Amino acid sequence: MENQKLNTTKVTFLGTGTSIGVPVITCDCPVCMSEDPRDKRMRASVLLETDGNTFVIDCGPDFRIQMLRERVMNLDAVIFTHEHRDHIAGLDDVRAFNYVLNKKIDVYATAHVLEAIRVEFPYIFSESRYFGAPQLTIHPIGDERFTIRGTEFIPIRVMHDKLPVMGFRIADFTYITDASHIDDSELAKIKGSRVIVLNALRNSKHVSHFSVQEAVDILTKLEPEQAYLTHLSHFVGLHEDVNKKLPENIKLAYDGLILNF
Ligand SMILES: [Zn+2]
Ligand SMILES: [Zn+2]
Repeated sequence: MENQKLNTTKVTFLGTGTSIGVPVITCDCPVCMSEDPRDKRMRASVLLETDGNTFVIDCGPDFRIQMLRERVMNLDAVIFTHEHRDHIAGLDDVRAFNYVLNKKIDVYATAHVLEAIRVEFPYIFSESRYFGAPQLTIHPIGDERFTIRGTEFIPIRVMHDKLPVMGFRIADFTYITDASHIDDSELAKIKGSRVIVLNALRNSKHVSHFSVQEAVDILTKLEPEQAYLTHLSHFVGLHEDVNKKLPENIKLAYDGLILNF
C-alpha cells in the first residue's frame, strides 16, 4: 500500500503524562519534586499540523491549558484513540474554537468511542440542545483509511489490555498511545514510519500499558529514524537520567516538544 506524502508535518506534544499526570497529587518523589520542566507532564495528546490543517489526537482534561500554552489559533478536527477520561475529558472546551472560528469541529472516533462520548457529554447530543453546547460534526471511523481535509489517516488497531485503541499513521509519522499489545498485522502498517511515538508507562510490567523496555524492544524492530515515548508516569524516572540510558534514536517525549519533518 502506498503511503501519502505530505509537504509539511509538525507535531507538538501537548501532553506526555499518564492518566493522573506528573507531578502526581500528594507525591513528593524526586520526579514529582523535579524543577526540570520536562518532568511536568500533562495528559497525553498531540497537536498535528499538516499542509495547513490543524488536528489534535485526543482531548483530555488538560486540553484548555494545552491550547493556551501553545497559542493554538485554529482547530479543524479532533481524532480520538479511545474513550478513557484522560483522552476525552476536555471535549467541552472546543467551544472556544466554535465561537471564535464560527464553525463546527469535526470529531473522528470509532462507534464504540462515540457511544462513550454520548454518555459522557449527553447535553452535546440532546434533542433540546443547550445553545452554548459544543458544536461538533461526528465522523465514525473503522479500520479503513480516512482522509481529513486532504490528510490521510491510517488507523492502527492496538490493544490496551482488553480494550481496542486506535493509533494513527499519518504519512511518515505514527502515534500510538495506551497500548499493551500490537498484532504483527498492525506492526506492518507502522513499519517504514520515519517518526514513531509509542506509549511506555513505567519500568516494571503493567497489564494495560507497555513498559519502557517493551516499548524499546518494539521500536528497535520497527527501526524508525527517531522515536519518542509518551504517556509516562513518575515511575519512569527523571527525564534527564532516563534519556541518557535510552538508545540514540529513542527518547522520552516531553510537553512542548516540537518536531518538524
Ligand atoms: Zn491514557
Ligand atoms: Zn487508556
